[in-house]
Amino acid sequence: MDLEKPVEEMTEAELEQLKDELVAEAEEQAAKERANYLKAGKIAEQAREYARSLAKPGVLLLDLAESTEEKIRELGGAIAFPVNLSRNDEAAHFTPTLEDASFIGEKDVLKIDLGCHVEGCIADVAFTIDFSREQADLVEAADAALQAALAKIKAGVSVSEVGKAIAFEIRGRGYEPIFNLCGHSLAPYVLHAGEEIPNIETGSYVLEEGDAFAVEPFATTGKGRVADADFLQIYSAISEKKVRLPVSRAVAEHVATEYELLPFAVRWLAPKFPVFTTQFKLALSDLVRQEVLNPYPGLRESTGGLVSQAETTILVEENGCTPTAAVK
Ligand code: MN
Ligand code: MN
Repeated sequence: MDLEKPVEEMTEAELEQLKDELVAEAEEQAAKERANYLKAGKIAEQAREYARSLAKPGVLLLDLAESTEEKIRELGGAIAFPVNLSRNDEAAHFTPTLEDASFIGEKDVLKIDLGCHVEGCIADVAFTIDFSREQADLVEAADAALQAALAKIKAGVSVSEVGKAIAFEIRGRGYEPIFNLCGHSLAPYVLHAGEEIPNIETGSYVLEEGDAFAVEPFATTGKGRVADADFLQIYSAISEKKVRLPVSRAVAEHVATEYELLPFAVRWLAPKFPVFTTQFKLALSDLVRQEVLNPYPGLRESTGGLVSQAETTILVEENGCTPTAAVK
């Protein structure tokens, strides 16, 4: 087909042919993305089981995070965001620094949240381990809520119905869903692509066939709201605006090249930048202030409640959904 020819000069038959070709191209692209989402899901599933096998009381959090990230690469995936290791009342965005000397405790309720991608198609999965087994019901609440959400999801269903099913499972067990944390739509190289699956009955988006979503119920013994903690180790690039401070400029250029728009951990920058210096910390806060970087502060349950989480990534189908990583 002669694509150089102006559309106005095309015959009816040529226009029809052009449309057919564009439709075929879009279908091919969608099929390729689907294959990549499924591939990423398999990698995430294996990395998740690897992390599960490593996580034990006495293990250094930093080792667990780094080994799991290494495993994702070994399995042929790219890392979509730093491994999050959030304990007890911590809900999300905690990832160890290189100086972090904390170990997993005997009674910790640990959330392991990891993500990988294949050509930008992301799998985002998480699970909770309750080492003392004193919070088995809390862990079960998030797992059951995830199952209930998956059973509900199909094209044409509103996200509020999914949120309602999640909240019903969690409240039925005597816990609260965390209302200000949500599942999220995924797009190539975009972790939070705009639409949300809430953990309560709210929201108006209607799921469409082919949508990719991370679904992540959180259950807590607290009131069900997270607030920012005084902890910040994860950022993502949001704009390529030029900045004046040379260190800031170097950091901005490096992260945009290495991680595109995906979240990164400060510890990943250590080989390249003096991450523990005041000058470097100033550069990061400068980049946040100038809206070049988006910060992901640690999130803690605001009343100190214990938190459990279960997460997988799904593709919405006409009559249901396909989890890209099987839920255990
Ligand atoms: Mn996650
Ligand atoms: Mn997620």
